[in-house]
Amino acid sequence: PTGATDNLSIARAARLWPIEEIAHHLGLPGEAVEPYGRGIAKLDPTTLLNWNDRPRGRYVLVTSMTPTPPGEGKTTTAIGLVQGLQRLGHTATVALRQPSMGPTLGLKGGATGGGYSQLLPMERINLHLTGDLHAVGAAHNLLAAMVDNHLYHRLAPELDPREIYWQRVVDLNDRALRHIVLGLGGAGDGVPRQGSFEITAASEVMAVLALADSLADLRQRLGRLIVGLDRDGQAVTAEQIGAAGAMTVLLKEALKPNLLQTLEHAPALLHAGPFGNIAHGNSSIIADHIGLGASDFLVTEAGFGADMGAERFFNIKCRASGLIPDAVVLVVTVRALKYHSGRHQVVAGQPLPASLLAEHPEEIHEGGVNLLKQIDNIRAHGLTPVVAINAFPGDHPSEYAAIRDLVASVGVRAEVSTHVRDGGYGAQALAEAVAEAAEADSNFDFLYPDELPLADKMERIATRIYGADGVDFASRARERLDTWQQQGYGTLPVCIAKTHLSLSSDQQQLGAPSGWRLPVREVRLSAGAGFVYALAGDIRTLPGFSASPACTRIDIDENGDTVNLY
Ligand code: ADP
Ligand code: MG
Repeated sequence: PTGATDNLSIARAARLWPIEEIAHHLGLPGEAVEPYGRGIAKLDPTTLLNWNDRPRGRYVLVTSMTPTPPGEGKTTTAIGLVQGLQRLGHTATVALRQPSMGPTLGLKGGATGGGYSQLLPMERINLHLTGDLHAVGAAHNLLAAMVDNHLYHRLAPELDPREIYWQRVVDLNDRALRHIVLGLGGAGDGVPRQGSFEITAASEVMAVLALADSLADLRQRLGRLIVGLDRDGQAVTAEQIGAAGAMTVLLKEALKPNLLQTLEHAPALLHAGPFGNIAHGNSSIIADHIGLGASDFLVTEAGFGADMGAERFFNIKCRASGLIPDAVVLVVTVRALKYHSGRHQVVAGQPLPASLLAEHPEEIHEGGVNLLKQIDNIRAHGLTPVVAINAFPGDHPSEYAAIRDLVASVGVRAEVSTHVRDGGYGAQALAEAVAEAAEADSNFDFLYPDELPLADKMERIATRIYGADGVDFASRARERLDTWQQQGYGTLPVCIAKTHLSLSSDQQQLGAPSGWRLPVREVRLSAGAGFVYALAGDIRTLPGFSASPACTRIDIDENGDTVNLY
């Protein structure tokens, strides 16, 4: 540590190593590394698949208990963990999603870790980086423009304007674009119809980018995107619109993972950033392949809690990649566990209540039902997690002891990690526990086989992972699932979009709710990404700004430095 205490000063005081040096330490061949400015490079995957004959590294997933307003710190812990592994003499790479600009400009706080476990260069990462998000937006909107052009010229197959599903995207929180009318004006201005915008991270193109394992695979997946229905009710694809080739070309650079570094110069791959509710919420398969080929450990994070991000990491991402996870880290904090006791009210934007910060080890056991359920959710996939207690200033040792006792009762190990205060040094105990867990033979298994019908897959996730008594499908959702089943989509995995703030579908319910049923009101087919998703709750795909968003305070100071981005 340099003595600086706030995230920004720590990041500013850090010295970046030339990115070529980071690549060199990973043993990457020089021709694979394409510099993109100070401390940033893209890695060309075509030169990096099976380029060496060293054994593949261990594959480690970082997930958490059910997210709470006081926060858990998955990203920060993943970064701290690779720094800790590095201190133990291993090579370790962290692979993360690229942050979306909407939240960065909306809520203060970046997605690049915290304290002495951060990624650099922080400002570039949080805004634009190498332009991948813009490329995803351009490819997505190219298809949208071509769909409207197809409609305008009445090309075959003739689209039904009331059944067009492909919307437009923007990487900002712009709620006024949620419902729009297109094609106003004269006869030469397009076909009038209703449409909408989503945030770029919600684009199926983003999910495709994260799941594709080569340029050829990307091309095929884009061709399979369904844009709407024709006049006979048959699905029309991006291939039929003639857009898939040009979209692939627009995404060629975006398919290359971005290489960066942590404060302690551990390699970091930032690549793709799909939503965690209507998509799988995991960074790219290509980045994981590269990291596993180059280092002893590849540590990656899945969005939201273990019921959502980890379940999809296992059943969507690992199914698509064929990679088998070796260890899982379940991040908790004392404050999140106590919050799940249901005894505390936290108001967004206000300091945490004193009662939540006071010493109450008994509340750890009350809120711990959530942690025990999430441990069980990892075990449902044949893996036993290591619990990482992400230490905050003011935590009480008695509460750490309560967490250790709680998880020991189900045969799980917990380690306190002070990586935010101490960098990799503070994550060594966690790193040792993870290295040990990863040595054991993996008994990993999917939650459901490909052949299980779509509706049954949803039932299995709802009952086995969320703790529901069952699923109530709206009749239209049931019909659609039956149709897709008959059309040959039945072997796809499924993704359930529900609130991430509860194991249940009601965000008010903390802990581990029982005696409830999951309502599925609508289902959609992501044929390009390769999953079916269900809407179980009101899911916003285009956020809005608050009355006082971070962007009203972000500025440039007299030295030309950005202020208040972080
Ligand atoms: P997640 O990935 O689970 O959403 P992050 O790692 O991004 O969480 O952390 C959320 C926020 O909390 C970040 O601003 C981070 O800097 C902060 N944070 C995380 N862990 C700590 C900690 N131990 N002490 C102080 N702040 C922390
Ligand atoms: Mg995160």
